[in-house]
Amino acid sequence: MDAIYLRQSVDKKDSISIETQLEKCLKESNGKYMVFSDKGFSGKDTNRPQFQKMMKLIKEGKINRIIVYRLDRFSRSIADFSALWQVLSANGVEFISVNERFDTSTPIGRAMLYIIMSFAQLERETIAERIRDNYFSRLEKGIWPGGPAPYGFDIIKKNIQGKNFSVLSENENAANVKEIFDLYSSEKVSLGEIGKYMRQKGDNNLTWNNLSVSRIIKCAEYAVCTSEFYYYLISQSISIKSSFDCFDGKSGGILCKKTFAVSFHKGIVDADTWIKCNEKIKKNSAIKNTGRGKYSFLSGMLKCGKCMRTVKIINSSGKLYLFCSGRTNGHLCKCDIKCDIKVIEKHVLKTAENILKSCVFQPDKPICNDEISKKIQRLIDIMCDCPAENVDLINERIKQLCKMKEKSNNPINIEIDFEGLDLENKKRIFRKLIKQIVVEQEKAIIYWNF
Ligand SMILES: [Zn+2]
Repeated sequence: MDAIYLRQSVDKKDSISIETQLEKCLKESNGKYMVFSDKGFSGKDTNRPQFQKMMKLIKEGKINRIIVYRLDRFSRSIADFSALWQVLSANGVEFISVNERFDTSTPIGRAMLYIIMSFAQLERETIAERIRDNYFSRLEKGIWPGGPAPYGFDIIKKNIQGKNFSVLSENENAANVKEIFDLYSSEKVSLGEIGKYMRQKGDNNLTWNNLSVSRIIKCAEYAVCTSEFYYYLISQSISIKSSFDCFDGKSGGILCKKTFAVSFHKGIVDADTWIKCNEKIKKNSAIKNTGRGKYSFLSGMLKCGKCMRTVKIINSSGKLYLFCSGRTNGHLCKCDIKCDIKVIEKHVLKTAENILKSCVFQPDKPICNDEISKKIQRLIDIMCDCPAENVDLINERIKQLCKMKEKSNNPINIEIDFEGLDLENKKRIFRKLIKQIVVEQEKAIIYWNF
């Protein structure tokens, strides 16, 4: 039995109508299928009723394949996806994504799955940034320039001189923000511990981990603007668009691209605590960046072919060397590695690129809102709640309607630029893709994860 999974979020920006998704998915199915459709749910987590229903059937062994229109319909989070993927593989379920043109019954399909998920996340981050750029001029007036509100705030409309503008307004999570800062300002508490604490608290608004907590700490919107904060911003070479008088100890401000303006919301965290926390986070990340893994995105994956210990990358007057510090009976390992890490890196990137080149993407078609689409939509809405014996009938009708709609495909190739990624993102992707690299005297063997 195939499971066709459809999702449309409330957010109009990412909307591909449910019926368009279904139409595309049906082409992949060989006839026996069930449809699961979550409308008005975001893909940021798996807390979706029909999705959960489908996962239950998977665990019961009733599903062989999942078909989705696009990967992000299934999950938008790499962490979630990896967890889900384990459930799927454990139950022998194959995964087909129509848009990305692959299925996971092939090793290449599995590799692409990881790569595409990683890039999808990057792309979302870039889009968010672009939106910010567009609304840059609003920022200077203290108006929220666009994009989602930081955790602890809602975006509300405020009438300013006869016009409605978006501004931030604290919500019930503001108390959590304050607590996070209070915790982190104490010497001993780490980002990870706060993440754990928030998970235990059961707040599902964010995926709580080091990264999400550090993002909160770095978010300048929380700070109460005082004269002290003004001088701190200047010391960080941030350009300030509001006059010194605006830093009155009441309002919060907005920071975007090294530009700050006092805004209309109240600050949540006093300037002292905010500065203390940000100094701490800077100090800690400085230690991290000079530590392990700064020379290559393959650090930590390299193993010595002789003693199977981790091979380190050492920088000696600008040139990188591989070095095994393993010892047997007190003597250094005699592996004598001569491989060049740069050559290994190049080979890894080239291989990953070649995998992607075989991947064909289809552009999204604009949604046509004709009568047929509406009919299909209505049927899908009905199907979610109707008794099982009627599902086949409705499916049959939907199939007919889909056939009536004209279909056209214009495949395009997309190019993904691995070289353009920064070190952290390269690491993020290749840790998923590579199990380990065994290095011998003059050769390296790459064990891919697919
Ligand atoms: Zn060794």
